Amino acid sequence: MRIMVTGGAGFIGSAVVRFLLKQTDHVVLNIDALTYAGSLASIPRVADGRYLFRRTDIRDRDGLEQLFESFRPEAVLHLAAETHVDRSIDSPGDFIATNIVGTCNLLEAARDYWIGLPATARECFRFLHVSTDEVFGDLGARGYFSEETAYAPSSPYSASKASSDHLVRAWHRTYGLPTLVTNCSNNYGPYQFPEKLIPLTIINALAGRPLQVYGNGCQIRDWLYVEDHADALYRVLTHGRVGETYNVGGHCERKNIAVVRTICDFLEALAPHKPPGVERYEDLICFVQDRPGHDQRYAIDSRKIHAELGWKPQESFESGLYKTVEWYLENCDWYQSLEHSDYQGERLGLLPQS
Ligand code: NAD
Repeated sequence: MRIMVTGGAGFIGSAVVRFLLKQTDHVVLNIDALTYAGSLASIPRVADGRYLFRRTDIRDRDGLEQLFESFRPEAVLHLAAETHVDRSIDSPGDFIATNIVGTCNLLEAARDYWIGLPATARECFRFLHVSTDEVFGDLGARGYFSEETAYAPSSPYSASKASSDHLVRAWHRTYGLPTLVTNCSNNYGPYQFPEKLIPLTIINALAGRPLQVYGNGCQIRDWLYVEDHADALYRVLTHGRVGETYNVGGHCERKNIAVVRTICDFLEALAPHKPPGVERYEDLICFVQDRPGHDQRYAIDSRKIHAELGWKPQESFESGLYKTVEWYLENCDWYQSLEHSDYQGERLGLLPQS
């Protein structure tokens, strides 16, 4: 198969590209604008010509059309997005432009191309849109998000993702484009840009900087190891029913403060030589004013993808988090290579988020 991946230089997109290159023999075209969050250092060098990269912005409709015509994909995995909630609160316009207008451009370019395909190729074509559980908003203390849960996004980020989900479903219903949607819980693992809770905590702890936790740290997220997500996306792409939505979750709820404390425990074992003045990593934890509109709890009911596609996560949270801490310790070159991006200027003042 010839698969176009958007956002393949980002955290989850690069895990998807690595999965496709390692576990399949498909040809992959990665298109990514290489914003501050994208890094080509997240993708291994591949010698056999199965991997192509084109720096392209999904806000550029003409550029997308040319890529569809030249690459002629049989499937699209759409992950390109602006993804950091705090940035969306500061500058929502970028999120509207990429997540909504960019997704519309991609749908339109895909539709123009798809209409021109021979009937059998048209039948087999797939467009998988990768989205988040944040579109469902705040869950409250009980229950889980199912595929039928009504949308109630709280932040500019989640509202922009919700809009893009609606566009994708409308392009299926109105034009017949063979789309699928996934809504997934919080991911963690290697190659995550260090503005998100887990990598930021690891890197700040190693540098002896404060580990800032929003509010009382009791917000609950359902954590999924990124390689399990890549596996889920491939199953949905290859075996999911067209027009359907699949929720993907780790069935692994943790309070943010518990995540930060577990990272500190792992660092005590893995990096016992601490920065000067630091006795215990946990002593670096401090609580700061909560994010406006912060959702208290997300949790996913992923019975549908399990029942229909046989998917369930392989990695437990503790083993996945341990591997992740080890990875950041062993790969400081990777995150130091990001030092010239926005991250360098902002990191000291940046608050963690999940
Ligand atoms: P990320 O921020 O790490 O990567 C996003 C990638 O998109 C980057 O490589 C960036 O360069 C690229 N990009 C941004 N704007 C672009 C544009 N205009 N044109 C082309 N490329 C552009 O994000 P991520 O965490 O890997 O998330 C990927 C997708 O998965 C997003 O759609 C996100 O909403 C969704 N998602 C993320 C999580 C999570 O926990 N991280 C959970 C569920 C769903």
